[in-house]
Amino acid sequence: MQNRYYTPEVETASVEELKAIQTVRLIRTVKHCYKNVPFYKKKFDELGITPDDIKSLDDLSKLPFTVKQDLRDNYPFGLLAVPKEDLYRIQASSGTTGKQTVAGYTKEDIDMWGECTARAIVAAGGTKEDFIHVSYGYGLFTGGFGLHAGAEAMGCTVIPVSSGNTERQVNILKDFGSDILCCTPSYALYIGEHVRDKGIDPKTLKVRAGIFGAEPWTDNMRKEIEKLLGIKAHDIYGLTEICGPGVSFECEEQTGMHINEDYFLPEIIDPETGKQLPEGSTGELVFTTIQKYGMPLIRYRTRDICTLTREKCSCGRTLIKMSRVTGRTDDMLIIRGVNVFPSQVEHVLLELGLTAPYYMLIVDRHNNMDTLEIEVEMTEEMFSDSVRKIEETANIIKNAMASYLGITATIKMVEPKSIPRSEGKAKRIIDKRKFI
Ligand code: ADP
Ligand code: ZN
Repeated sequence: MQNRYYTPEVETASVEELKAIQTVRLIRTVKHCYKNVPFYKKKFDELGITPDDIKSLDDLSKLPFTVKQDLRDNYPFGLLAVPKEDLYRIQASSGTTGKQTVAGYTKEDIDMWGECTARAIVAAGGTKEDFIHVSYGYGLFTGGFGLHAGAEAMGCTVIPVSSGNTERQVNILKDFGSDILCCTPSYALYIGEHVRDKGIDPKTLKVRAGIFGAEPWTDNMRKEIEKLLGIKAHDIYGLTEICGPGVSFECEEQTGMHINEDYFLPEIIDPETGKQLPEGSTGELVFTTIQKYGMPLIRYRTRDICTLTREKCSCGRTLIKMSRVTGRTDDMLIIRGVNVFPSQVEHVLLELGLTAPYYMLIVDRHNNMDTLEIEVEMTEEMFSDSVRKIEETANIIKNAMASYLGITATIKMVEPKSIPRSEGKAKRIIDKRKFI
């Protein structure tokens, strides 16, 4: 019998119950940070506050923010709140946007993280009878070990394949009968493409669900992956600083991710002013970890843009939901004054469905003018079309981009399989302006 929830008492608690848990844990975390992390003691002193000023969730906004630079300034272990010998594991961020940040976990932290990803596996329809195929990278990157811990906590059978060697991934999917695939959405797409190229009918594979995250992706990309692999694809979100994947996860409704808010207290702020925004507003996501010992963080600014909602979810979970992440503020390109996220380009391309789902944004500057070129990959069939037909398609894409993005881009149609495939987080931007 499939369980609907991993921890029903929390996942379906009333808002009052959740807030009561959060209040106790917030107060405890603030004391722990003040007492054990000199960085926080200093910040509190500068603001003229002490842990006694924090009595309820409404006091959250009195607390200082923590930003990525703080972790870099205290690299590698300056923000630890426990003696080094109490640590159980070290992980580090992928370093997508600069020097990698390091996180230290106690045994309790690792167990808490495993509980979070176990909730995600159950929400994706997983049971303890399932084979969980983990193709996130194992190592300092949190993806592999994060999902691994959840599958073990549930008593599933884990297949720790790690990322890479796509041929082998497909053989294992087929031969071992993996039930749930876990990897980045861009790698899922690549694995799906490989399945198709090998002439395997996805219906003959046992895999029925995917848990994909660690990078932004669109609903259109979800449909593409679901079609290629014949599965239901679920989003999962997280970041190393907070724990890793499993900070939030998607249920069967597939309309956003439930945040494990008994562990991570979310807020949305205006990234310019730092002011808290009301529920439903789009802004920067901020987390306070309220049940972490090794490296607790207060009001950590994720730089990820999304919205929060407490609207009732058909799955019965009451945990607050965050929308898909459009992208991080660092990924946002400003081209001739217009904000552009790669996810918008993905949305348009896949909505049109005229080409392969692979693209690259190349930003440059000519005569003091920003330029955007979008490389779009042709399908095999298109590649044999006449030049005129290909130009027509490029024109359709160009017009659709102009109306959706609000800027004109040059569309360059490139050969099938010429855009590099990703086994982890996809790289979608080449910004040549940085070298000028
Ligand atoms: P890095 O910042 O080096 O990539 P991490 O490996 O810790 O470090 O990745 C965390 C970041 O990955 C998040 O802050 C977010 O930008 C992105 N991310 C993770 N999961 C998702 C998701 N489901 N959707 C969109 N972005 C995601
Ligand atoms: Zn739900």
